[in-house]
Formats: sequence, C-alpha cells, structure tokens
Amino acid sequence: MDEHTDVQFKSLSRVGIMGGTFDPIHLGHLVTAEAARSEFKLDKVIYVPSGQPPHKKGLHVTDKKRRYLMTFLAVSANPYFEVSRAEIERPGETYTIDTVRYFKKNMALGSELFFITGADAIFEILSWKNVDELFELCTFIAATRPGYNLGGLRKKLSTELKGRQLEKIIPIEVPAMAISSTDIRERVKKGRTIKYLLPEPVENYIHKKNLYK
Ligand code: NAP
Repeated sequence: MDEHTDVQFKSLSRVGIMGGTFDPIHLGHLVTAEAARSEFKLDKVIYVPSGQPPHKKGLHVTDKKRRYLMTFLAVSANPYFEVSRAEIERPGETYTIDTVRYFKKNMALGSELFFITGADAIFEILSWKNVDELFELCTFIAATRPGYNLGGLRKKLSTELKGRQLEKIIPIEVPAMAISSTDIRERVKKGRTIKYLLPEPVENYIHKKNLYK
C-alpha cells in the first residue's frame, strides 16, 4: 500500500482503527466507532474494511471493493471518520498485525493506536498472528452487545494473557450492536425491510447492486 494515497494520520496523536468485514456496514458499527471516539478522546476513527479474512475461508464474503464502497458511503458525512484502503489493497490474507504495523509506521512518535472491533472477534485474539507484538503496538476496544457474557470473555483471556495484555482489552457496551450484518443479509434474502438499520445510501447501494439475494 502506498502510504501517500491512503488516509493521512501523521499529525494525529490518538487514532482508532475500526477493523471489520463490514458486509454490510450498519448503524451498530457507526455507534460503536462514535462511542469509542468520544470515550477514548480519539482524534479520528479510521475504518479498515478487511481484504481476505483468514478466518472466513470457504465462506462467501462480498467483493472487497463493494464493502469498501459501502463503508465509504456510510462514513463520508462525518469529519471524524475516514476509510482506509490498507487491507483491501494488500495482497494475500488479511492479518491485523500488518495493518497495525502500517499505521504505527506512519504515525508520529508517542501517538497512541486503538483497535476497535467486535468482542466476538477479540475472543479469538489468542489465535491471531503475532499476538504479543499486537499488544505492544495497540490497545483493543471490544464492542459488546447488550447482555454479552463479559465474564466469559475475561475468564478465557485471563487464563492465557499476561496482566498487562489483559489491561489492553477494554470492553464497551453498545446498545445499537443488537443490529448485525448477518441479520441484515438474511433480511435482504427473505425480502424483509432493512430500513433504519443502516445508512440510507448503503441501503440503496445494496438494492441497486442486488447484494445478498
Ligand atoms: P467477524 O468474525 O465477522 O465478527 C465477529 C463479531 O464482531 C460479529 O458479531 C460482528 O458483527 C462484530 N464486529 C466485527 N467488526 C466489528 C466492529 N468494527 N465493530 C463492532 N462489531 C464488530 O469479525 P470480522 O469483521 O471478520 O473481523 C473483525 C476484525 O478482526 C477485522 O479487522 C479482522 O481483520 C480482524 N481479525 C484479524 C485476525 C488475524 O489477524 N489473524 C483474525 C480474525 C479477525 P457484524 O457481523 O455485525 O459486524
């Protein structure tokens, strides 16, 4: 990825990376990013749609350019949000460590990086590539749905992570996370409405391109 063609973040001191497949992006993601921005006083949240997720081999995932475009449509009105092409342009499987290294390399010394994603994804973090280095480079913000078994997440992680690593996973509860991409895809397939679950331009794009049928 040519750093000059991507989002510029050299002047920022607190950056949130919003990592996800975003198939499609919905209001739960937007509320999560805004909650993280406000609670952690982030200068910007940069959405990074995944390229080829290694944990989704064999599953159908919408073309990365379309997921990028939907993400762009969803966030372009918010000056605190940006979308990065870092993962969709990187060949091969998408590992978070490569993304975090890319961001760190392009950020000013002393700046802080936060990786925001769903708690279910974080639950699997022990199997992620270069997990120790990931903890060195960033803090994780884990978005949970109301009623999520936080105790279960803590218990699993506390048996395997060192104290300092555990402190670098911070859960936040997001009411709008009751919305899910899986549910939206199923609703479209069954011909049910998705209105108000995601931004209107994204809804229009899904219908225009006949996605999830
Ligand atoms: P996923 O398995 O599709 O999603 C797990 C759960 O988290 C779902 O409930 C999902 O809800 C939710 N979620 C995903 N992204 C979210 C976000 N940004 N904010 C709030 N909730 C979110 O996870 P994924 O989207 O493919 O992966 C999440 C991130 O972890 C990506 O950046 C991915 O690259 C990274 N990851 C890295 C590795 C690795 O480096 N080895 C392995 C796995 C994942 P929705 O379906 O509604 O989004």
